Amino acid sequence: MGQETFSARAPMAYRFKCEHCGTTTDWLPAQISFSQTVQVGMFQKEQERARFQQEFWRTYPERCKAIEGGNYSNVTGLKFDCPSCGKSQSWGMKTTSPGTLIFGAIVMLGLAMLWFVVSNNGIHNLGGLVVAGLALVGTIGCPVCIGMAISEAAKQSKIKEAMSTTTERNKPEFDFPPHK
Ligand SMILES: [Zn+2]
Repeated sequence: MGQETFSARAPMAYRFKCEHCGTTTDWLPAQISFSQTVQVGMFQKEQERARFQQEFWRTYPERCKAIEGGNYSNVTGLKFDCPSCGKSQSWGMKTTSPGTLIFGAIVMLGLAMLWFVVSNNGIHNLGGLVVAGLALVGTIGCPVCIGMAISEAAKQSKIKEAMSTTTERNKPEFDFPPHK
């Protein structure tokens, strides 16, 4: 038994009318991608790969529908800034909340404070080593989370600001190659 990651990709294209300057972009390339990690036996790898491919194409029409419905989680290479004026489109709004990242920063700060435990007691055994390791993770992770939260908040406010100057709300148009 071993773990194997299979992935499949299909090319697709999209274009959109900019909500700010009204330019309709050329057809732009992107990809529908999907990967799955499964447990496979030593002699089942090829069989499992074939099954995965078959499953990808069986669910392909549903994936295309989901993308048309606004779920872009299986799309790679999708850009939502207008190539002409550079402004972001409403349909590209990210959903990562700065709040989640702040929560991460607090957790990391908690871990970083474990350093006091280590500096008071020293590293005498495996337990001490684990505590020291966690403190190190927290010390590095805390500023990283804060940095990410700041940049995410800035990105979202930039999109919101761009959106406030237009009431135009468009959706991209997609072109999928015929299903194999
Ligand atoms: Zn534009």
